[in-house]
Amino acid sequence: MLAVPLGSTEQHGPHLPLDTDTRIARALTDGLAARVAGVLAAPALAYGASGEHAGFPGTLSLGSRVLALALVELTRSADATASGVVFVNGHGGNASALREAVTLLRSEGRRVLAWAPRSALAARVGVPSGDTDLHAGRVETSLMLHLASDLVRLDRAVAGPSPTLAELVRRGVRPLSPSGVLGDPSGASPAEGALIFHAYVDDLVAAVLRWDETRRDENRREETR
Ligand SMILES: [Zn+2]
Repeated sequence: MLAVPLGSTEQHGPHLPLDTDTRIARALTDGLAARVAGVLAAPALAYGASGEHAGFPGTLSLGSRVLALALVELTRSADATASGVVFVNGHGGNASALREAVTLLRSEGRRVLAWAPRSALAARVGVPSGDTDLHAGRVETSLMLHLASDLVRLDRAVAGPSPTLAELVRRGVRPLSPSGVLGDPSGASPAEGALIFHAYVDDLVAAVLRWDETRRDENRREETR
């Protein structure tokens, strides 16, 4: 089984690097491969759909249409030799392309799973997040302090507004937050990042094992037919 980290190259406020989402997705994928036998970690796709971050230096977006096509072609090319493809998504803006690609790939009979962290997981380990922590806020800052603290410029961190997801999609980040931050990084820490990271990996591992179990059931049914 192949696990592919999906990231982005986009502004993450004044305090986090452009490849924040890619690093997080890669680390989660490595965590999955370390825990589930037979999972191979592919190199990360470091570009995604980041149209909502246009107008900030450093943002490089493929757009949803191209990303969806790329995910379809990557899966088709892996399909001959892999028993399935798991996309580990580190960037919310990739979600619609991922949904579109997975729908098409499944209609072709291919084994593909999309996983992304849910904000409820951070809340479960006591980190206030949810809809108020959309981008470069406390969750991502804690995760990066855990994974690559030397790349976090905590002295430059500032709080931004907390728009609804619908408002973010409609208007883009630029008119809402000059700093690029949506949420509040204050309170972030490496220890908190470790808690969130392990909650994410646990959830990812559970999702892949559940999915793999359905594949085994299908194979068994095929064999007894
Ligand atoms: Zn991010």
